[in-house]
Amino acid sequence: MRKKVVAGNWKCNTTVQEGVELAKAVNELVATEGAKDVVVVLGTPFTHITKVVETVDNSRIGVAAQNCAAEAKGAFTGEVSAAMVKSTGAGYVILGHSERREYYGETSEILNKKVALTLENGLTPIYCCGEPLEIREAGTQKEFVINQLKETVFKLSADDFKKVIVAYEPIWAIGTGKTATTEQAQEMHKDLRDAMAAQYGQEVADEISILYGGSCNPKNANELFANPDVDGGLIGGASLKADDFLAIINAY
Ligand code: 13P
Repeated sequence: MRKKVVAGNWKCNTTVQEGVELAKAVNELVATEGAKDVVVVLGTPFTHITKVVETVDNSRIGVAAQNCAAEAKGAFTGEVSAAMVKSTGAGYVILGHSERREYYGETSEILNKKVALTLENGLTPIYCCGEPLEIREAGTQKEFVINQLKETVFKLSADDFKKVIVAYEPIWAIGTGKTATTEQAQEMHKDLRDAMAAQYGQEVADEISILYGGSCNPKNANELFANPDVDGGLIGGASLKADDFLAIINAY
């Protein structure tokens, strides 16, 4: 059966020292109190990855970069390649977050290169999709989000697609305190799984973990994760507090 995954996305927060303290706290709580059947991932800034990998029990907690370069290597000042991420010991890369699409102009074309490099380097992409408020208000969110997948990860072979974790993050719910209702989350996750089944067959679709992201917190996680097609969460703000993050991990 598909995995349950709770991944933190620290975004552009914490110094290295603060990040190591946070990772240490999460590591201790997960070791003693964390639900054993949940895959836990910490999405840290690039600068923190090596130290966080050293800090956590890697058999229990995975580490993710929040981005990687669209090129393998070379004269791309300031970029961090998928191979570099791999060499830190991290196992995942968050790709296509709406903040990267919106503020850094990441198009489907760029994301296809990043997804390919991530997979070539044996890393798991956590591929984000989600609609802005105006699309939700127009009622065309299903077509919008499925199109994001069609332009990117649906171009992969079935074998490669099976390695992808998908995160549905409605943009209007990110950092706003406005969570999708449990019905809205389940409806979209089911639509996405149906689209995966149409593309790759039901067996493949049933293997893909689809995470929900957007103002997920210890109060609403339980209800969200109770949905049959919600396989975990991608957590922003609440992943910066070890206790809150643990409570979300244990919301299953
Ligand atoms: P918040 O949980 O802070 O709304 O952020 C969600 C998110 O963007 C995770 O990637």
